[in-house]
Amino acid sequence: MAIDELEAQSFHWLVDMLESVEVGLVVLDLEFRVQAWNGFMENHSGITASKIRNRVLFELFPDIPEAWLTRKVDSVALLNTRAFTSWEQRPYLFKFRNTRPITGTEDYMFQNLTISPLSGTTGQVEKICLMVYDVTDIASGKRALERANEQLAKLSMTDRLTGLLNRGTWENLVDAEFERYRRYNQATSLVMFDIDFFKKVNDNYGHLAGDEVIKDTAATTKTNLRQSDSIGRYGGEEFGIVLPETDAEGARIICERIRESIEHSVVQTSVAPIRYTVSVGIAQLGDKPKSYMEWLQQADKALYAAKKGGRNRVVVFE
Ligand code: GH3
Ligand code: MG
Ligand code: MG
Repeated sequence: MAIDELEAQSFHWLVDMLESVEVGLVVLDLEFRVQAWNGFMENHSGITASKIRNRVLFELFPDIPEAWLTRKVDSVALLNTRAFTSWEQRPYLFKFRNTRPITGTEDYMFQNLTISPLSGTTGQVEKICLMVYDVTDIASGKRALERANEQLAKLSMTDRLTGLLNRGTWENLVDAEFERYRRYNQATSLVMFDIDFFKKVNDNYGHLAGDEVIKDTAATTKTNLRQSDSIGRYGGEEFGIVLPETDAEGARIICERIRESIEHSVVQTSVAPIRYTVSVGIAQLGDKPKSYMEWLQQADKALYAAKKGGRNRVVVFE
């Protein structure tokens, strides 16, 4: 075989490979007219090479950020060096549907992009090659991990049984509200409440039914609160609420409503319908407490007084 013929043949293979490789290959002239468009690009765009040849890229893909790509390509041509962009900067250049079955959760193909200068025989940059890599698998893996981490962070702030803030998180809020009061002096109230005779609930109906009652307390209380009020599970069957911009009288009204709703609710457990009550202590923040913990103790004292006074009642710390 003659040398020329061999070269022609290996060129033919090369073109075959570029046609079928799982990377998008696009050659553009400096006016963004498409000069080459491989099989990957045909398959994902639905536009054949013969149809797009010599057409300006932006006319066929109006979604492509023209100013951004022009800037990139100009600097590649000027400096005669390659440039890269990752999906984390820009999820994709070409809006292709995601076709991978395993990563079916993502709607569009995530892409990394390499922009290479192509020089003519004179050494002058005449064309630009875009290489489009499908990185949907990597991107969706990373995004799933981020979502999982977010969930985890949320879980570590909340109580598993009730979904309320856990004690640590809630106490931080009490502390923050305490500091806010010292700066702005707006009325603010703290509530501590506890289920009455809860040991009996556990003894009579079992621990699981007891858990149902605790969940009911959380749900009933929540429906009686504003968005800005923060409720936490302080202990087993003890709860705390921060009521910003609320004085003791306002807090009493809210707490009476909660106390009544709970008194009238019937928890339908698998063992039996259960009725129960709660005792509530309120402390409006004043100048006395030196720390948020002293404020908590005041609310706790009021709660204790409510228990002593016969339970199923609301007491304000004086
Ligand atoms: P009081 O009216 O004085 O509050 O009486 P009480 O029986 O409710 O007394 P106390 O508040 O001390 O009772 C707490 C009980 O709550 C003891 C504990 O076994 C139970 N408990 C704590 N956490 C949980 C929980 O997560 N699930 C269930 N089912 N029970 C719990
Ligand atoms: Mg109790
Ligand atoms: Mg208790």
